[in-house]
Amino acid sequence: MSAEAAVNYVTETPMEEIERVSAWINSEEYKEKNFARQALVINPPHACQPLGAQMAAHGFEGTLPFVHGSQGCASYYRSTLNRHFREPAPAVSDSMTEDGAVFGGQNNLHEGLENALALYKPKMIAVFTSCMPEVIGDDLTAFIRNAKKKGVVPEDFPTPYANTPSFTGSHIHGYDAMLGSILKYLTEGKQIEGRCTGKLNLIAGCDFNTGNYREYTKILKEFGIPTTFLADISESFDSPLDGTYKIYPGGTKLEDAADSVNGKATITLGPYATAKTFTWIKETYSGAHVALPIPMGIAKTDAFILKLSELFGKPVPASLKADRGRAVDAMTDAHQYIHGKKFALYGDPDYLLGYVSFLLEMGGIPYHILCSKGSKKFEKEMQALLDGSLYGAGCKIYMSKDLWHMRSLLMTEPVDAMIGDTHGKFAARDARIPLFRFGFPIFDRVNKHRYPLVGYQGALNMITEIANKFIDIKDDTCEDRYFEMMR
Ligand code: SF4
Repeated sequence: MSAEAAVNYVTETPMEEIERVSAWINSEEYKEKNFARQALVINPPHACQPLGAQMAAHGFEGTLPFVHGSQGCASYYRSTLNRHFREPAPAVSDSMTEDGAVFGGQNNLHEGLENALALYKPKMIAVFTSCMPEVIGDDLTAFIRNAKKKGVVPEDFPTPYANTPSFTGSHIHGYDAMLGSILKYLTEGKQIEGRCTGKLNLIAGCDFNTGNYREYTKILKEFGIPTTFLADISESFDSPLDGTYKIYPGGTKLEDAADSVNGKATITLGPYATAKTFTWIKETYSGAHVALPIPMGIAKTDAFILKLSELFGKPVPASLKADRGRAVDAMTDAHQYIHGKKFALYGDPDYLLGYVSFLLEMGGIPYHILCSKGSKKFEKEMQALLDGSLYGAGCKIYMSKDLWHMRSLLMTEPVDAMIGDTHGKFAARDARIPLFRFGFPIFDRVNKHRYPLVGYQGALNMITEIANKFIDIKDDTCEDRYFEMMR
């Protein structure tokens, strides 16, 4: 480098000081200070409510997600979904700026709706809010009613809307709010006395894994159970590349969603991400209503399969019994690589319960369990899961904590691996342990969203990924004399 291009540091930190602080942030003393932290969040493993709302909207046919609020926020949701799925996440925003913040965003909303309808010709526009209109108290109900009165959108055009204030909750709460609003809108006046569609309504919850949706569809096909998959993002975010851009690939057909109110049964597999929607469904929908945990691992998949069998009076198909047998065989073959290993986990409540259930079945120890936006109910359910297994003893649940807290835990009480989304890679690198990317968002690996983690196939996939990584580490680090062909 030439002398002219040399950097002149304003301050210089001596190397000894850098080394001292680097060591100090790994200490017990620092952990205590870190856990005493009140007013600052560092690297939270969750996104804001509107992102979840947008995700729910993408699950319906011809639906355009519409952000009432700031353009920058809308870009954040779109780019996060886009980078996770490596697919477009088309959505619009009414781009509120300073004048909207002062005078309210009604004009922005009306102009935006008119343009969106003319340009993108959706079958439904799902409106949700960013922080700004929530802070100033924009009245979405009145704004949308006025839009219809003014003829900005036709009176009968579906415009469900949800308030998704980001200063509370997380993406799962936004998902819940938007899903509930869409279903309320579409099913209004559609319940018919004595009608039963004979179908199952299935809700996957705020699940960002398109492979999981396909796995559910496969299981239901094996059973021969007619199904309306509500908020089905499997095509929206994983449609084939055929040279033609489609703005609205896939999604639940609006007429099927409307008729779901007359279903034979409704199952949610994401109870924490659909808490409010499911409470409303129980009060409104015909048929049976069942909330089950996400079917990860054998026990939770068994519960799902047996419930399907019971609800529809069908025996468990031989093909699924064979899948189960293969998964159990794979667990037996690989248990020694996972048994006794300690894990640190973080993410959404529904995912966490699934990972922990699976690990306990494998004799893994879910040592640190961190949930940044959970509830007392979740904490209790998780504790009961831990208490039910030998391998849950000594494991701890950390509520309302972030990934900087997690880093302190990894440094002071080390584990063998982490499970979570891409945001944990910094802590995993510092701790020199592998990160199994099983959550959302995953930006730094490909195809993870196509790789099912639910059902018997999901159990098999998790075993394969985790066990082989530990074997890789052994091969990479063992002395020559222990470098074996057979592991
Ligand atoms: S937290 Fe608020 S300001 Fe930030 S991206 Fe979400 S909606 Fe926008």
